[in-house]
Amino acid sequence: MTGKIMKGIGGFYYVYVEGSGLYECRARGIFRNKKMKPNVGDVVDIDILSEEEKTGNLVKIHKRKNQLIRPMAANVDQALVIFAVHEPEPNFHLLNRFLITMEQQEIPVIICFNKTDLATTEQMQQLEKDYENSGCQVIFQAAATGEGITQIEELLRGKTTIMAGPSGVGKSSTLNCISKEKQMETGAVSEKIKRGKHTTRHSELIHIGEDTYLMDTPGFSSLFLENIEKEDLKYYFPEFEPYENTCRFNGCCHIHEPGCEVKKALEEGKISKLRYDDYCMFYEELAQQKKW
Ligand code: GDP
Ligand code: ZN
Repeated sequence: MTGKIMKGIGGFYYVYVEGSGLYECRARGIFRNKKMKPNVGDVVDIDILSEEEKTGNLVKIHKRKNQLIRPMAANVDQALVIFAVHEPEPNFHLLNRFLITMEQQEIPVIICFNKTDLATTEQMQQLEKDYENSGCQVIFQAAATGEGITQIEELLRGKTTIMAGPSGVGKSSTLNCISKEKQMETGAVSEKIKRGKHTTRHSELIHIGEDTYLMDTPGFSSLFLENIEKEDLKYYFPEFEPYENTCRFNGCCHIHEPGCEVKKALEEGKISKLRYDDYCMFYEELAQQKKW
Protein backbone atom coordinates (compact mmCIF):
# COMPACT_ATOMS: atom_id res chain seq x y z
CA MET A 1 0.00 0.00 0.00
CA THR A 2 1.08 3.55 -0.63
CA GLY A 3 0.71 6.32 1.90
CA LYS A 4 2.24 9.45 3.29
CA ILE A 5 4.42 9.86 6.38
CA MET A 6 2.55 12.12 8.78
CA LYS A 7 5.01 12.02 11.62
CA GLY A 8 8.20 10.32 12.64
CA ILE A 9 8.99 9.75 16.28
CA GLY A 10 11.07 7.37 18.35
CA GLY A 11 11.87 5.13 15.39
CA PHE A 12 8.23 4.89 14.31
CA TYR A 13 6.73 6.41 11.23
CA TYR A 14 3.02 7.11 11.09
CA VAL A 15 1.81 6.53 7.57
CA TYR A 16 -1.59 7.66 6.39
CA VAL A 17 -3.17 5.59 3.64
CA GLU A 18 -6.09 7.23 1.89
CA GLY A 19 -9.21 5.20 2.64
CA SER A 20 -7.51 2.89 5.15
CA GLY A 21 -6.24 5.13 7.91
CA LEU A 22 -3.06 5.46 9.90
CA TYR A 23 -0.40 2.78 10.26
CA GLU A 24 2.41 2.66 12.76
CA CYS A 25 5.45 1.58 10.80
CA ARG A 26 9.09 0.82 11.33
CA ALA A 27 11.73 1.46 8.73
CA ARG A 28 13.36 -1.77 7.68
CA GLY A 29 17.08 -2.17 8.10
CA ILE A 30 17.82 -1.22 4.53
CA PHE A 31 17.03 2.42 5.29
CA ARG A 32 19.48 2.67 8.15
CA ASN A 33 22.61 2.74 6.09
CA LYS A 34 21.18 4.67 3.21
CA LYS A 35 21.44 8.38 2.69
CA MET A 36 17.71 8.72 2.18
CA LYS A 37 16.18 8.88 5.62
CA PRO A 38 12.38 8.72 5.77
CA ASN A 39 10.93 12.15 6.27
CA VAL A 40 7.58 13.68 7.12
CA GLY A 41 5.78 14.24 3.82
CA ASP A 42 7.40 11.29 2.10
CA VAL A 43 5.22 9.13 -0.10
CA VAL A 44 6.06 5.56 0.88
CA ASP A 45 5.14 1.97 0.18
CA ILE A 46 4.37 -0.10 3.24
CA ASP A 47 3.89 -3.78 3.92
CA ILE A 48 1.09 -4.37 6.38
CA LEU A 49 2.10 -6.44 9.41
CA SER A 50 -1.26 -6.40 11.11
CA GLU A 51 -4.40 -4.80 9.75
CA GLU A 52 -5.98 -5.17 13.18
CA GLU A 53 -3.25 -3.36 15.02
CA LYS A 54 -2.57 -1.05 12.10
CA THR A 55 1.13 -1.78 11.96
CA GLY A 56 3.49 -2.13 9.05
CA ASN A 57 6.96 -1.84 7.59
CA LEU A 58 8.28 0.89 5.37
CA VAL A 59 9.66 -0.71 2.26
CA LYS A 60 10.17 2.09 -0.20
CA ILE A 61 10.40 5.86 -0.36
CA HIS A 62 9.12 7.40 -3.57
CA LYS A 63 11.19 10.03 -5.36
CA ARG A 64 10.82 13.41 -3.70
CA LYS A 65 9.59 16.55 -5.37
CA ASN A 66 11.59 18.59 -2.85
CA GLN A 67 13.08 18.44 0.61
CA LEU A 68 12.80 21.36 2.98
CA ILE A 69 15.29 21.86 5.76
CA ARG A 70 13.22 24.29 7.75
CA PRO A 71 10.82 22.86 8.57
CA MET A 72 12.01 19.31 7.89
CA ALA A 73 9.52 18.07 5.34
CA ALA A 74 9.43 16.44 1.94
CA ASN A 75 7.12 17.06 -1.00
CA VAL A 76 5.89 20.46 0.11
CA ASP A 77 3.79 22.23 -2.53
CA GLN A 78 3.31 25.59 -0.88
CA ALA A 79 3.38 27.61 2.32
CA LEU A 80 0.55 29.47 3.95
CA VAL A 81 1.64 32.18 6.32
CA ILE A 82 -0.85 33.85 8.61
CA PHE A 83 -0.58 37.26 10.18
CA ALA A 84 -3.30 39.30 11.83
CA VAL A 85 -4.14 42.69 10.37
CA HIS A 86 -4.39 43.86 13.94
CA GLU A 87 -3.98 42.39 17.47
CA PRO A 88 -1.15 41.56 17.20
CA GLU A 89 0.11 44.09 14.67
CA PRO A 90 1.82 42.34 11.78
CA ASN A 91 5.55 41.99 12.13
CA PHE A 92 6.57 42.75 8.56
CA HIS A 93 10.26 42.09 9.15
CA LEU A 94 9.34 38.56 10.11
CA LEU A 95 7.01 38.16 7.16
CA ASN A 96 9.58 39.50 4.68
CA ARG A 97 12.27 37.25 6.12
CA PHE A 98 9.94 34.29 5.84
CA LEU A 99 9.27 35.12 2.18
CA ILE A 100 13.00 35.10 1.46
CA THR A 101 13.55 31.72 3.10
CA MET A 102 10.64 30.25 1.13
CA GLU A 103 11.84 31.82 -2.13
CA GLN A 104 15.24 30.24 -1.44
CA GLN A 105 13.59 26.84 -1.24
CA GLU A 106 11.35 27.62 -4.21
CA ILE A 107 8.14 27.25 -2.25
CA PRO A 108 5.24 29.47 -3.36
CA VAL A 109 3.64 31.43 -0.53
CA ILE A 110 0.07 32.41 0.23
CA ILE A 111 -0.13 35.27 2.71
CA CYS A 112 -3.28 35.30 4.82
CA PHE A 113 -4.14 38.41 6.73
CA ASN A 114 -6.56 37.28 9.41
CA LYS A 115 -8.90 39.26 11.68
CA THR A 116 -10.20 41.51 8.92
CA ASP A 117 -13.10 42.28 11.24
CA LEU A 118 -10.64 44.38 13.25
CA ALA A 119 -9.24 46.37 10.32
CA THR A 120 -10.34 49.34 8.28
CA THR A 121 -10.65 49.16 4.51
CA GLU A 122 -7.72 51.58 4.21
CA GLN A 123 -5.45 49.28 6.24
CA MET A 124 -6.31 46.34 4.04
CA GLN A 125 -5.80 48.32 0.85
CA GLN A 126 -2.36 49.28 2.08
CA LEU A 127 -1.46 45.65 2.80
CA GLU A 128 -2.73 44.62 -0.58
CA LYS A 129 -0.61 47.27 -2.25
CA ASP A 130 2.52 46.41 -0.25
CA TYR A 131 2.37 42.76 -1.29
CA GLU A 132 0.74 42.87 -4.73
CA ASN A 133 4.05 42.44 -6.58
CA SER A 134 5.78 40.30 -3.98
CA GLY A 135 5.12 37.15 -5.95
CA CYS A 136 2.73 35.89 -3.26
CA GLN A 137 -0.98 35.44 -3.32
CA VAL A 138 -2.64 37.60 -0.67
CA ILE A 139 -5.86 36.61 1.08
CA PHE A 140 -7.92 38.50 3.59
CA GLN A 141 -9.74 36.33 6.04
CA ALA A 142 -11.47 36.24 9.38
CA ALA A 143 -11.64 32.98 11.27
CA ALA A 144 -14.20 34.73 13.49
CA THR A 145 -16.72 35.26 10.66
CA GLY A 146 -15.64 32.62 8.16
CA GLU A 147 -14.60 35.22 5.60
CA GLY A 148 -12.06 33.88 3.14
CA ILE A 149 -12.15 30.33 4.49
CA THR A 150 -13.65 28.82 1.31
CA GLN A 151 -10.95 30.52 -0.72
CA ILE A 152 -8.26 29.05 1.55
CA GLU A 153 -9.80 25.58 1.34
CA GLU A 154 -9.73 25.76 -2.43
CA LEU A 155 -6.07 26.74 -2.44
CA LEU A 156 -5.19 23.86 -0.13
CA ARG A 157 -7.10 21.15 -2.01
CA GLY A 158 -4.93 18.33 -3.32
CA LYS A 159 -1.75 19.88 -1.97
CA THR A 160 0.68 19.58 0.91
CA THR A 161 0.98 22.92 2.62
CA ILE A 162 3.11 24.13 5.46
CA MET A 163 1.41 26.63 7.70
CA ALA A 164 3.29 29.23 9.66
CA GLY A 165 2.69 32.38 11.62
CA PRO A 166 3.50 33.94 14.98
CA SER A 167 1.31 33.03 17.94
CA GLY A 168 -1.93 34.84 18.51
CA VAL A 169 -2.66 35.58 14.86
CA GLY A 170 -5.39 32.93 14.61
CA LYS A 171 -3.69 29.83 13.22
CA SER A 172 -5.64 27.40 15.40
CA SER A 173 -8.90 29.25 14.79
CA THR A 174 -8.32 29.08 11.05
CA LEU A 175 -7.43 25.41 11.23
CA ASN A 176 -10.67 24.80 13.10
CA CYS A 177 -12.66 26.47 10.34
CA ILE A 178 -11.07 24.34 7.64
CA SER A 179 -12.91 21.08 7.06
CA LYS A 180 -14.51 20.90 10.46
CA GLU A 181 -15.43 17.23 10.24
CA LYS A 182 -11.77 16.41 9.64
CA GLN A 183 -10.81 17.74 13.02
CA MET A 184 -12.22 14.59 14.61
CA GLU A 185 -9.85 12.52 12.56
CA THR A 186 -6.95 14.73 13.57
CA GLY A 187 -7.87 14.09 17.16
CA ALA A 188 -7.71 10.38 16.49
CA VAL A 189 -4.22 10.73 15.03
CA SER A 190 -2.99 12.50 18.15
CA GLU A 191 -4.63 9.79 20.21
CA LYS A 192 -2.65 7.12 18.43
CA ILE A 193 0.57 9.06 18.67
CA LYS A 194 0.41 9.37 22.41
CA ARG A 195 3.69 11.12 22.91
CA GLY A 196 2.76 13.53 20.15
CA LYS A 197 1.25 16.15 22.38
CA HIS A 198 4.47 16.80 24.24
CA THR A 199 6.76 16.90 21.27
CA THR A 200 5.69 20.03 19.50
CA ARG A 201 9.15 20.44 18.04
CA HIS A 202 8.52 17.57 15.66
CA SER A 203 6.81 18.44 12.45
CA GLU A 204 3.54 16.66 11.88
CA LEU A 205 1.20 16.57 8.94
CA ILE A 206 -2.54 16.49 9.32
CA HIS A 207 -4.88 15.09 6.71
CA ILE A 208 -7.65 17.55 5.97
CA GLY A 209 -9.14 16.15 2.79
CA GLU A 210 -8.42 13.83 -0.10
CA ASP A 211 -4.72 14.19 -0.94
CA THR A 212 -4.73 17.34 1.14
CA TYR A 213 -2.25 17.76 3.95
CA LEU A 214 -1.32 20.58 6.24
CA MET A 215 1.70 20.98 8.46
CA ASP A 216 1.52 23.35 11.35
CA THR A 217 5.15 24.38 11.78
CA PRO A 218 6.58 24.97 15.22
CA GLY A 219 7.12 28.65 14.61
CA PHE A 220 9.47 31.24 13.36
CA SER A 221 12.36 30.65 15.73
CA SER A 222 15.17 30.68 13.20
CA LEU A 223 14.64 33.07 10.37
CA PHE A 224 18.27 33.93 10.16
CA LEU A 225 19.21 34.71 6.55
CA GLU A 226 21.96 32.47 5.33
CA ASN A 227 23.50 31.20 2.14
CA ILE A 228 22.68 34.45 0.38
CA GLU A 229 25.29 36.84 -0.98
CA LYS A 230 24.20 40.41 -0.37
CA GLU A 231 24.54 41.07 -4.10
CA ASP A 232 21.93 38.36 -4.74
CA LEU A 233 19.40 39.58 -2.20
CA LYS A 234 17.62 41.66 -4.84
CA TYR A 235 16.58 38.51 -6.66
CA TYR A 236 14.44 37.57 -3.68
CA PHE A 237 12.30 40.67 -4.20
CA PRO A 238 10.19 39.93 -7.30
CA GLU A 239 8.89 43.51 -7.38
CA PHE A 240 12.37 44.75 -8.39
CA GLU A 241 12.54 42.51 -11.40
CA PRO A 242 10.95 44.80 -14.02
CA TYR A 243 13.67 47.40 -13.31
CA GLU A 244 16.58 44.98 -13.01
CA ASN A 245 18.24 45.78 -16.33
CA THR A 246 17.38 49.43 -16.59
CA CYS A 247 19.53 50.91 -13.79
CA ARG A 248 22.47 53.01 -14.94
CA PHE A 249 25.04 50.63 -13.47
CA ASN A 250 25.34 46.96 -14.21
CA GLY A 251 24.98 44.99 -11.00
CA CYS A 252 23.18 47.88 -9.30
CA CYS A 253 22.21 46.94 -5.74
CA HIS A 254 19.49 49.59 -5.69
CA ILE A 255 20.81 51.25 -2.54
CA HIS A 256 23.37 54.03 -3.05
CA GLU A 257 23.88 53.96 -6.79
CA PRO A 258 22.86 56.97 -8.90
CA GLY A 259 20.49 56.40 -11.79
CA CYS A 260 18.76 53.56 -10.00
CA GLU A 261 15.39 52.69 -11.51
CA VAL A 262 14.27 50.74 -8.44
CA LYS A 263 14.71 53.84 -6.29
CA LYS A 264 12.87 55.85 -8.90
CA ALA A 265 9.99 53.35 -8.85
CA LEU A 266 10.02 53.61 -5.07
CA GLU A 267 9.69 57.38 -5.24
CA GLU A 268 6.85 57.02 -7.72
CA GLY A 269 5.07 54.65 -5.36
CA LYS A 270 5.39 51.68 -7.69
CA ILE A 271 7.47 49.73 -5.19
CA SER A 272 6.37 49.35 -1.58
CA LYS A 273 8.45 51.36 0.89
CA LEU A 274 7.82 48.75 3.54
CA ARG A 275 9.35 46.07 1.32
CA TYR A 276 12.18 48.26 0.08
CA ASP A 277 13.20 49.35 3.60
CA ASP A 278 13.45 45.71 4.66
CA TYR A 279 15.51 44.98 1.58
CA CYS A 280 18.01 47.64 2.72
CA MET A 281 17.97 46.33 6.28
CA PHE A 282 18.60 42.72 5.21
CA TYR A 283 21.30 43.87 2.81
CA GLU A 284 23.12 45.56 5.67
CA GLU A 285 22.64 42.47 7.82
CA LEU A 286 24.22 40.25 5.15
CA ALA A 287 27.09 42.72 4.76
CA GLN A 288 27.75 42.55 8.52
CA GLN A 289 27.55 38.75 8.52
CA LYS A 290 30.26 38.64 5.89
CA LYS A 291 32.59 40.72 8.06
CA TRP A 292 32.27 38.23 10.88
P1 GDP B 1 -2.82 31.08 17.22
O1 GDP B 1 -1.93 31.34 18.40
O2 GDP B 1 -2.23 31.64 15.98
O3 GDP B 1 -3.20 29.66 17.06
O4 GDP B 1 -4.14 31.95 17.45
P2 GDP B 1 -5.59 31.50 17.97
O5 GDP B 1 -6.34 30.79 16.92
O6 GDP B 1 -5.46 30.85 19.29
O7 GDP B 1 -6.26 32.95 18.13
C1 GDP B 1 -5.73 33.95 18.98
C2 GDP B 1 -6.85 34.88 19.40
O8 GDP B 1 -7.34 35.60 18.28
C3 GDP B 1 -8.04 34.15 20.01
O9 GDP B 1 -8.53 34.93 21.08
C4 GDP B 1 -9.04 34.12 18.87
O10 GDP B 1 -10.37 34.08 19.33
C5 GDP B 1 -8.75 35.42 18.15
N1 GDP B 1 -9.11 35.38 16.73
C6 GDP B 1 -8.81 34.42 15.82
N2 GDP B 1 -9.32 34.73 14.61
C7 GDP B 1 -9.94 35.92 14.74
C8 GDP B 1 -10.66 36.78 13.83
O11 GDP B 1 -10.84 36.51 12.65
N3 GDP B 1 -11.12 37.95 14.35
C9 GDP B 1 -10.96 38.30 15.66
N4 GDP B 1 -11.46 39.47 16.07
N5 GDP B 1 -10.30 37.51 16.53
C10 GDP B 1 -9.80 36.34 16.09
ZN1 ZN C 1 19.21 50.01 -9.15
